[in-house]
Order: sequence, then structure tokens, then C-alpha cells
Amino acid sequence: MARTHLDALRLDALTLEQKASLLSGRDFWTTKPLEEAGIPSVALCDGPHGIRREAGGSDHLGINESLPATCFPPAVAVGSSWDAEVAARIGAAVGREGRALGVAVVLGPGVNIKRSPLCGRNFEYYSEDPLLSGVLGAAHVAALQAEGPGASVKHFAANNQETERMRVSADVDERTLREIYLPAFERVVTRARPATVMCSYNRVNGVHASQNRWLLTDVLRREWGFTGAVVSDWGAVQDRAAALAAGLDLEMPGTGGAGDRRIVEAVRAGDLDEAVVNASVRRVVALTRRRGGVSGAFDADAHHALARELAAECAVLLKNEDGTLPLSAGARIAVIGEFAVRPRFQGGGSSHVNATRVDAALDAIRALAPEAAYAQGFSLDGSGDARELREAAAEAAAAADVAVVFTGLSEREESEGFDRETIGLPAVQVELIRAVAAAARRTVVVLSNGGVVSLEGWHDDVDAVLEGWLLGQAGGSAVADLLFGVVNPSGRLAESIPVRLQDTPSYLNFPGEAGHVRYGEGVMVGYRYYETVELPVRYPFGHGLSYTTFAIRGLKVVRTGDDTATVTVTVTNTGARPGKHVVQVYVATSAGPVRRPARELRAFTKVALAPGESRTVTLPLDRRAFAYYDVPLGRWVVAPGDYTIQICENASSVTAETTIGLDGDAAVPVVSLDSTLGEWLSHPLAGPALLKVLTGGGRSERPAENDADGLRMASSMPMGRFLTFAGIDVPHATLRELVELGGSGGAAA
Ligand code: BGC
Repeated sequence: MARTHLDALRLDALTLEQKASLLSGRDFWTTKPLEEAGIPSVALCDGPHGIRREAGGSDHLGINESLPATCFPPAVAVGSSWDAEVAARIGAAVGREGRALGVAVVLGPGVNIKRSPLCGRNFEYYSEDPLLSGVLGAAHVAALQAEGPGASVKHFAANNQETERMRVSADVDERTLREIYLPAFERVVTRARPATVMCSYNRVNGVHASQNRWLLTDVLRREWGFTGAVVSDWGAVQDRAAALAAGLDLEMPGTGGAGDRRIVEAVRAGDLDEAVVNASVRRVVALTRRRGGVSGAFDADAHHALARELAAECAVLLKNEDGTLPLSAGARIAVIGEFAVRPRFQGGGSSHVNATRVDAALDAIRALAPEAAYAQGFSLDGSGDARELREAAAEAAAAADVAVVFTGLSEREESEGFDRETIGLPAVQVELIRAVAAAARRTVVVLSNGGVVSLEGWHDDVDAVLEGWLLGQAGGSAVADLLFGVVNPSGRLAESIPVRLQDTPSYLNFPGEAGHVRYGEGVMVGYRYYETVELPVRYPFGHGLSYTTFAIRGLKVVRTGDDTATVTVTVTNTGARPGKHVVQVYVATSAGPVRRPARELRAFTKVALAPGESRTVTLPLDRRAFAYYDVPLGRWVVAPGDYTIQICENASSVTAETTIGLDGDAAVPVVSLDSTLGEWLSHPLAGPALLKVLTGGGRSERPAENDADGLRMASSMPMGRFLTFAGIDVPHATLRELVELGGSGGAAA
């Protein structure tokens, strides 16, 4: 009997060809078995919010039919839950279904940052904020893997657009990568230990992610301690041998043996160390431990109910004038818009799930208010006369107490594979909303969209707006639950809703040109930008209303170490309904030599409270909550200075704050002849010594540059050049001593 256990895997008993064969897929979804070594084939399948297990034809665009599975709320919705438990319960259910459908590795979640609202795949990503993305991603992965299958956190890294996704180079400075685009991956890898990381299609600073050694080995393995397998995004490998050497273990899908042959050739030619092949084989074979049960059985009813419960945690109540919502079941209600009967609940592309069933909002509304009228309002396929549909809708609205208009984007407007060019709703829908609002006593708009849509041109005409994003297969029922107050809305925006596309920080650099996209806005992504430049948005990151009210009291910040603290506040439900409040903790500082965003989210938690109930919560702030990434030093640094801890209603509204001073890292800066005169003079040891040389010995005449004003004017000149320029002849031995005092010994030699 062949043994399957990894520890029993004798690599020296395998030929190079056999080993290389294990490093790419057998077909679209499975790895190659090696029966003589007892290594089985395993399946890797999408996806992030439900299993796409193709039984017949294979593709990575969600075209072919797959086995029925539950479509849970996609990440865009989960992001708005601000609740790690929601992410975990979805992860666990997806894990159970993956196990039942024989999947060893589930391809998700995606933790890429929403850099631009135009990215066609934003529905698959959680947030514009790295902490929120990382916390939710880690919760999903840990819970999924606890059910047996492995997860594949994707797409590593800087894959923030669909345009030219297989070729474009994301040109991002290192501080921005470290502070914005990598932390969500870092958190998932270090805290949830995913079985695999999927590299992205794009290039990062010119080098394909699939063969980017800095990303796949230096950062991922050496710094973060990743021990799982790196798998390519489907078709992301450019040069198989270079990819393997850089740290990419498994090439997917299979290439009919072409990649394997390249590996063998590279080893034989002495270009690739066989030890690298061996290490990758071990990592890939480790995945076979995750084999699913192929029982086909999971509790579809229970999972549908779960999908409904969790979807209701995700929708965001953006506006609710005069208590328009919740609706009363006795009211005359006109439901308008084709999305109410043909829900848009998931995104197009590789994450597309063949849902076990789909709830339409109209059915769920009529279960609570059987008399609700319906008018189509517009047609999704463009058929019919737009004016007639609109007029019929306005008539239905006029005859009702309240009109509920279901609008949004169809898969024509947004999907994996392309980016949007506008954030507007289709014009026909904007006209419909305005016509209904003009006719109705009260108007509620329910949105279904994977990427942010503009609310301009109609927002002020309506009384309430519920942003439903894409809520999964039970979203229709969840929306009804929220509209009627069966569930109290508790979602908060995980991304800012701008006034204009032109206001978005990446506007001038999206989607790039000539094969490059320059991340020119740096760390100023999303609310970090709007808050720093004080640019109004329609709704800020973190915004969301409830049918009850909350009060925050007693902010207390306690330092627990040199650069750590805890934040304590008491939240009270001051209204009449049970509800959930998201405590959002931001840190604001200008400490350090780099430009800091006005504030950054550093901790959060969601608290469920009965009417009148209070709860005191304490959240830790670790060192990273105060740190910036210092590129010259190559590490995270806490700069000495003041840090204001803010409890916010949302990213632009501070409820309470308190400031603490931190001594910061005691790092003595290192100066060399390349450092400026200013840097030299502020160095605690080298500065005074240099000043002595400049104002005392080591020169024949006293140049003008040496008086206080002259020194200030010259302070941005590199020392070496300053000395030459000012004609200061410092003896070599003195210079050497100075450079040694500056901490960069030898540099003057
Ligand atoms: C997508 C991945 C997906 C893979 C397999 C690719 O096109 O970028 O997210 O997991 O296909 O379907």
C-alpha cells in the first residue's frame, strides 16, 4: 500500500521529472497524482463566498455550470458588516460545503484593497482599509480551514484593477505597499495560516508577481513566516523556472507538462537548484492532506437561512429621513424596479456560484405585506418602452404611502475582467428614481451594486437609502427583514462614497498607461485622502444608520507599554430597539518624518445591545497602531510625538478623543556623506562634532556658509557636496571620525 503521509514522502526515491510533475495542475482544477508515491490528486476550486465546483466543462470565468452551492454575501457586503464573526461564519459554511464537494483548497478570500471605485472586482474585496480587510479575511480563513479544506488568500499583491490585469505593472513605493497593500495579507498569513497564497496576475514594480522573489520569498516567507504553498492565479506564470526560483510552488492550471519540462531543463542546466524543487514539492504535497469528503451532503436549508441572517448584518442604511424606515406592514407599499424580482446578488466571473436557490425581495416583502403593489420601472435587458415603464411606476408610487425602488448595476456594468468607467447608475434608473420621488409620498431606494455608485442627482429627492451591495442568494429576504425592522440595520460603509469620480484619490492614475499604473496617491487611499485634504464625500467610510440610537461615554486610554495602549469606552443603546453599534477607533498623528494621513482606523468592534443596555469595551492598540514604515531603515518605526486616539462615528466625525505622548523608538539616525547637512547637524553625536569642525579647525578661511543663515540655506545639501561646494577641506582622518560618529563607519573610506 502506498503511503500518503508527507513525513513518509521520500524525495530521493522520486526522479526529477516526477517531482517537477507535482508542481503544476493535471487539468483546470486538480493537481497531479503520483500513485507510486501514494500522492493523490486534489481539487482547488473557487471561491470566496461559495463553492464553484465544476463538474463538466472547466473555465475560470464562471461560464460553465457548477454544482449547486450556497452563495453567501460577497466580500463587498461582508466588509460592511464590520464583524469578524460574520466573516467567520461564512468561512466555516464555505469550508463545510467545500469539504462536502471534495475540494481541498478553496480559492479565496480576496483581500486586495479598493484603490478605485472603478475596479471591476471590488465586489470580491472587503474594503479600502487594510485593517478591516485583514481582520475579516483572517476570520474567514481560520474558520474555513477549521472545517478541513485549505484557503487561498488572493491576489498577492497590488492587484487593484482589472484593466490589463495580466500585464500591468503596479508601480508602488515601498511605504505604501507596507502600510496599505500588504497588511491585510500579512494579518491573514500570520494569524490564520492559510494553506496557500495565490499570487496575482500583474507585475509589481516591473516584476511579475508570479516571479517576484521579494514578495513571494523575502516578505511572505522570511518576514511573515509563511509555510504553505504559493499557487499561481490561473495562468499567471510567465517563466516557470524563474517563478519557482522566486517562490511560486504550484502552477495552475496545468500546461500539459510544458512548465514541468522547463523546471527539469533548468535544473539540468544548473540554473535552478534541485533543493528549490524539493521544497516546493513538499509544500504542494502537504495540500493533499486537505482532501475533502466528496459526500455531496451539506445542509442547504440551514446554509440558506444562515445566508439570510448574515446578509442582514451587511446592508448599510445610508439615509432615513423622518423615520421613513422601518416600513409598517399596514402601509400601502409600491415595490418598483426589476431587481425586486430578478435580484442581483453576486458578481460575474470566477466567483460565480450556482446558487441552491434565490430569494426575490418582492416575495419576501409580500410575505410581510401581502398587498404590496409591483411595477417593473425599467427593464434590465433594455426591452420595453422606458417612458411607459417609468410612468407606470410613478402611477403606482402615487397610489401608495411609500415607494421602494430597487436599483443597481447589472453584470453588464460590472464584473471580473473589466473596470467601470463611471460610478453613475444607469441613466434610465436615475430618471426612474426621480420620477417616482416626484410622485410618491415617501421614497426608499434599495441599491444592489458590487462597486460604489454615485448618489448624486437623486439622493436629495428621496427619503431613505439602503445600500445592499450584493447580498448573496438570500439577500432579497434580508432586505425585506431590514425594510420592515425585523432586523435592525447595523452595516457601516467599508469604503467612502465620493461626490464625484474626479474626487477619488487614484483618479489621475487609474487604470494607468503604457503598461504601468502609478500609485501616485501613496498611502492616501480612500478616507485617508478625503480626511487629509478635507474633501467632502457623500458618505464617509464607517457611516451607517440604525433604527435605534447609541451614546458613547467614558473614553479612557491607558498606556500598557512604551508603544502600546488600551482604549476603553462605554456604549449605551439609548433608543427603543435592540441594535448593534460599531465602535471605531482611529489614531491621528503627525509624528515622524513622513506625511501621515489625518487619521487611520486602528481598532474596531461591533457591540449588540438591548434598549437601555450599556457595555464597556476595551480594545488593544499594538505597536503597529502608531507606527509608520520607514523605508531607509527597512522597518516599522514609532516616531516620538503625540498620538490622538479618536472614537469616531465614522471616518469624518469624531465623538471623543484623547492624546497621549509616546517616546517612540530611540533609534539614533545614521548619517553618511550622502546625508544632508541638516541631517548631520541634528545627529546627537556627529552634529556637535561637525559643528566644531565647521566653526573651528579644519579650514583656512571662514566661508559664509558657516554662519547660522548660511548653514540653514545649505541644510538640504548632501554633506559631501556641501564640503566641496563650500571649499572646506576636512582632513581625511577627521572625516573618517565624523562618519564613524554618524554611525555609518567606513562610508568615508
Ligand atoms: C481569478 C482567481 C480565480 C481563478 C480560478 C482567476 O481568473 O483571478 O481569483 O480563483 O481564476 O478561477
